[in-house]
Amino acid sequence: MRFVYGHNLRTLRGPQKGNWRGDEIGYRSLHTWVTKNKEKTGVCTGCERERYTEWANVSGVYLRDLDDFAELCTECHWELDHGWDGEFD
Ligand SMILES: [Zn+2]
Repeated sequence: MRFVYGHNLRTLRGPQKGNWRGDEIGYRSLHTWVTKNKEKTGVCTGCERERYTEWANVSGVYLRDLDDFAELCTECHWELDHGWDGEFD
């Protein structure tokens, strides 16, 4: 569903590649931006298992920085959101 959402958003906004207006963009759009600009490997960065992954914001402040997003499985993403110290084991 996330992909479909991103597709619809892109259609609505038209070909405005690189036209970023940070303050008006919520984290949902940021996720769309990451999805478009960062390739998924299908391997979780946290546990290094090949499984369903999603982009997780590392800093928690949603920087428009691809390095601020880690590809994590739902388990590791949960850990991140619930007291992960930012270091992988
Ligand atoms: Zn994981």
